[in-house]
Amino acid sequence: MEIFKPMDLQKENPRNTQIENTEKVRCLIIGSGPAGYTAAIYASRANLKPVLYTGMQMGGQLTTTTEVDNFPGYPDGVTGPEMMEDLKKQAERFGAEIRFGVATAVDFSGRVHKVTIDENKIIEADAVIISTGATAKYLGLEAETKYAGQGVSACATCDGFFYRGKDVAVVGGGDTAAEEATYLAGLCRKVYLIVRRNELRASKAMQDRVVNTKNIEVLWEHQTIDLFGENGVEGATLVKKKGTPAEEKVKISIDGFFLAIGHTPNSEIFKKYLDTDEVGYIKTIPGTSKTKVPGVFAAGDVQDMHYRQAVTAAGSGCMAAIDAERYLSELK
Ligand code: FAD
Ligand code: NAP
Repeated sequence: MEIFKPMDLQKENPRNTQIENTEKVRCLIIGSGPAGYTAAIYASRANLKPVLYTGMQMGGQLTTTTEVDNFPGYPDGVTGPEMMEDLKKQAERFGAEIRFGVATAVDFSGRVHKVTIDENKIIEADAVIISTGATAKYLGLEAETKYAGQGVSACATCDGFFYRGKDVAVVGGGDTAAEEATYLAGLCRKVYLIVRRNELRASKAMQDRVVNTKNIEVLWEHQTIDLFGENGVEGATLVKKKGTPAEEKVKISIDGFFLAIGHTPNSEIFKKYLDTDEVGYIKTIPGTSKTKVPGVFAAGDVQDMHYRQAVTAAGSGCMAAIDAERYLSELK
């Protein structure tokens, strides 16, 4: 049976590639980070027979890190890839079907939700759980890749502990940078806050906290151009007052370099149907995982600008599966 008219296909399938087949499922989960896998554990145990598409990064952001020391249940810590493999196995144990594939378009206009996978397959689902995460922004320096996991981090809460008593730098001037700098100041000997303008974008309260923290030094009108070090970050090369007659190069000695210049929630394909905030985080009804479309739920970093932790992502994945189960039971 033909499900879509050609016009519909063109609208929801921007590159207009051939749709090979369609499949109907009760519960579709998009994304394989802590939120997606936890949703899969709960949904499969509730007999929703979930199908989960992993996206390009199977296991999510934690697969790019080494030690995870703050996820409950691992008293000796665990590596990110190991932990995500554990979560995957746990979801599979209860029957979740985990498939490799990327959601490339959605149509949430009807009661049955349609999600295009890899531009060539349509999954029709009664309930959809979006857990596509958020991606930290980087400056784009080669050195950020070179020293990834060896001094460069985009998460102070995750990695700050490894820099106790050391000197670190945070880049950015928003609330996240201010928050991360003050958090690190409680652990580290000295924190440089590298700000590209001569003012902070952060709220007044956060600015006051930065200014009143003795071991934070704000480097106004500085931009990072490189990092250096033999076996990990040992310092950064900055340019002060770039593009002015007073321009000069400065080197600072640091052991850790923290990016706090914003995140991009992976919500682009959903924006036509769901409300997002100005940054792109999906809006949910407070205290729930429900979006404004009945049967579409959001969990994890894609809807959480504040916490962005594995355990909070997992917790909200659980909420989404429970919300989906209740929604589906009322559909019958
Ligand atoms: P993510 O883990 O971001 O996963 C998103 C998933 O969605 C991925 O599988 C991706 O492939 C998939 N996806 C995206 N788009 C699509 C699409 N269109 N179709 C299908 N799938 C899609 N938190 C901690 O609590 N402790 C730590 O120690 C810690 N360390 C970290 C270290 C690093 C280097 C980083 C980057 C983050 C760290 N975090 C840590 C934060 C933590 O990783 C995130 O909060 C958590 O992974 C968010 O989980 P999530 O499930 O929302 O999304
Ligand atoms: P943000 O507000 O967008 O700030 C990003 C900061 O990074 C800006 O200061 C920006 O500089 C700087 N930046 C961007 N690109 C840069 C580059 N290439 N080089 C150097 N600096 C660069 O992002 P955010 O701080 O992550 O906050 C996002 C949202 O979450 C905001 O609405 C914020 O209020 C909110 N938030 C709230 C809290 C809280 O209430 N506790 C905590 C965290 C975040 P410019 O200023 O020069 O543009």
